[in-house]
Formats: sequence, structure tokens, C-alpha cells
Amino acid sequence: MTMTQHGPISAATPNTDQLLEMRDRYVPRVATASYTSIVAARGQGAEVEDVDGRHFLDFAGGIGTLNVGYSHPLVLQAVHAQVDRLLHTCFPVMPYESYIRLAARLAEIAPIAGPAKTMLFNSGAEAVENAVKIARLATGRQAVVSFANAFHGRTWMAMTMTGKVNPYKLGLGPFAPEVYHAPFPNRYHEQGDLSEAEFLATSLRRFHEFFTYHVSPAAVAAVIVEPVQGEGGFVVPPPGFLRGVAEFCKEHGIVFVADEVQTGFGRTGRMFAVQHEEGLRPDLILVAKSLAAGLPLSGVVGRADLMDAPPPGTMGGTYAGNPVACAAALAVLDVFEREGLVERAQVLGERTLERFRLLQRKVPAIGDVRGLGAMVAMEFVRDGVSREPDPHTTSEVLHRCHDNGLVVIKAGTHDNVLRFLMPLVTTDAQLERGLDILEDAVITVRDQAAVEPAVAP
Ligand code: PMP
Repeated sequence: MTMTQHGPISAATPNTDQLLEMRDRYVPRVATASYTSIVAARGQGAEVEDVDGRHFLDFAGGIGTLNVGYSHPLVLQAVHAQVDRLLHTCFPVMPYESYIRLAARLAEIAPIAGPAKTMLFNSGAEAVENAVKIARLATGRQAVVSFANAFHGRTWMAMTMTGKVNPYKLGLGPFAPEVYHAPFPNRYHEQGDLSEAEFLATSLRRFHEFFTYHVSPAAVAAVIVEPVQGEGGFVVPPPGFLRGVAEFCKEHGIVFVADEVQTGFGRTGRMFAVQHEEGLRPDLILVAKSLAAGLPLSGVVGRADLMDAPPPGTMGGTYAGNPVACAAALAVLDVFEREGLVERAQVLGERTLERFRLLQRKVPAIGDVRGLGAMVAMEFVRDGVSREPDPHTTSEVLHRCHDNGLVVIKAGTHDNVLRFLMPLVTTDAQLERGLDILEDAVITVRDQAAVEPAVAP
């Protein structure tokens, strides 16, 4: 499909204003606190066309779901073929080939120690919930440790494990018991002159101390960690931290779970982000988002002995591992192999970091630029000394980007981080165009702030 510049899809199609008005009337506000006011009509690669025929570069990629881009021909072909054969059976009732083949492929490529098995679900949060069930049944223990500033989803257990109160947990207690939040290293906000090695040592010492004060390791079923915190603002732990956590888990018989929902499928320049640490092999890896190029699918891939701990019926769901979603995921894995998207992520990420850093030199409000592979972000602060978050500037920049044809979204506990999750099929020209739009937005907002009085938060 080539997208051409034209008006609404058909005369009968309502325009943006009409659709947003309908949305506001019929969809609750919880689902309309929107990132953009763009009503999407179709997408191709890294570009979206809205219902009014306007074109946008999409560097939010469905919040990291479109690593192979919109409408990849191999994915569409696989989906169409599957749609014509079989839409649904409910896997435990009657298994089907696409699930079985996908389970095998994920078990082969995921860096799990020893033989692995895969169980499929619908959403990232469901994968998180089920990882906890597996760990509890495999260990006979109850406690779960996640990290401050983490995001694991919005179902009850996943919400409890999430480490940000507003808006994810505010007013929603009581939460699930026996969930503890360990400190997560944050280089930018832990000011000081520590060397890399000292920072790693400090971070691991605090992790170990946590078990002195909060929960005994002997009571812990699982430690779950995002290899790079996603919603939390693309916080990259120091190299060696994940390995240290994994070693602690091994020593104490704790199941080590990597939540790769946002970091997986090439995003960080490795197929899985844990592969940045030589030899690191989690007990369970959680996958979702870019696994199926936008179709609802998630999975827990893990050590076969752990995966077989729950007896039949303990986990599952009517739609879990839908045949069409599985066919899409198999095609996604083919695309990765054929198009070298993991390597491409590295290239896209390096260029993005370079341009972000150049921009940072011109704009003091950009306090930090960081990332891993193509998971890159800039953090806006009021000043470089206090490093106080500046969500106002962040949203001004975002709106300007949207007005000028670039979809980007924010992250961070204080909503002051602008993140790039561009499809890995983004071309060089598209990347430069997106970066130009961002640069223009940041400079314009900086210049406006210089003449306008600061707006109260
Ligand atoms: N874990 C991580 C690391 C995520 O980024 C997300 C989604 N942003 C989830 C879990 C939850 O995934 P879902 O929205 O599919 O439930």
C-alpha cells in the first residue's frame, strides 16, 4: 500500500473533529486523556495518515508495539492467510499449529538457561500476572519484588507491582499483599561523582540491603525487572546491575523475571535487552507489544521445569494465543531475520542519541539524554542544578511536534521525559525528518520560554 496525499478516506467517513466529538460523548475520559488529537486512518512503515488525509511520522510506534512498522507486507500476508483458515478454537480445547510453532521459536531464541517452554496470553499485564503464578507454584513462596519507578501493567497484581502512584494506583487500593519495591538505580538523579564501577557497587549494595530491611530472600518467589525502565522514563541501569540481581536470585532460589514487554524484539539493539549482559539468562522472560506487530499477544518464555510447575487449568484464558496473532508473530520473527532489524535499531539509536546530544548543548532545559539502542529519551528539567522535572516544557514540545507532523510521547514518573520508540524500519530520511521536527519544536519552545513568564505547574 502506498499512502497518497488525499482527503478523507471516503465521503461517508467523518473527519477528525466529528470523530473526537463522538469519542468524547461515548468513550469515558479515562480512555481519552489522549497523547495526541490525531485520528488514525491507515499506516505504512513509520508513517500514519489521519482521517483528514494528513501525514505523520510515528515515533511512538504504538508505545513500542510497531518495531516492524505499520502494515509490513509479510505480516499482512500471514494474517490474511490465517484469517481465511481459522480464527479461534481456544488452545486448550483444540490446539493449532501457529501457537505451537511460535512457542517453539520463542523458546529457541529467548536467552533462557536450558530447555525452555512458552505460554501465550493477550497482554503484557497478563504475562506479568502469570509469571507470578508460575514463580509462586514453582517455589512455594509468596513474596514478589519489583522496583520503584517500574511499570508492569494495570491489572491488580501488575498494578501493585508498578512503582508509580499517580495515575496508576491513586485511589485504587487495597493492593495485593506481599509485593515489595526495591530501589532502582538512576544515575541522573543520584547526583554525585561516583565512577561507573562505584555506582554499580552502590546500586547493588542498596539492592542487597533492601532484603535486610523489607523482606527475607527466603520468602521471595520472584524478582521482576525491566532491563531498561520504559514508562519510568527510559532509565538504564549500570552495566552489571542485572547480572548482580540475577546472581542474588540464583543464590537464594528466587525466580529471576525479565519484563521485556517494551525492551524486547530488537528495541535496544539486541533481540532481548538482557543480552547486553554477556551470559545473563533469566528464568522467565515476558514478551508482548512488538511480538505480534499490533495484534494482542503476549507470552511467558521460561525454564521448562518452572513453566511446568502450574497444573493444567491454573493459567490461561479464552483468547490467549489467538491463531491470527500467532501467525502475525511468526511473520514478525521472519522479518527480524530477513531485514536485520536488530542491527538497524543500533544504527537508529546511535544517530538519535547523537542528534539529541547536539540539541542538549543548545538547550539547558534538556537535563539528560540517555538510552539503549533505539530506546532513546531526553529529560526536561527546570535547571541543571536542582534537576527538578519540567513537565510543562515537555508537553509544549510534544504538541509542537504533533502540529508539525511527528508523533512522539512522554514517559517518566514526572511526565518530563520525551521518548522515541520509532519503528525499526524507519528510513534514514524519515529519521532525519523526525529529528528536524523535534529540534525545531525544542528550539521554538526554548525561545518562547525566554520571552514569556514561566507558567505555574
Ligand atoms: N510491562 C512493561 C515493561 C510495559 O511497558 C507494559 C506496557 N507499557 C506492560 C508491562 C503492560 O503491557 P499491556 O499494556 O500490554 O498490559
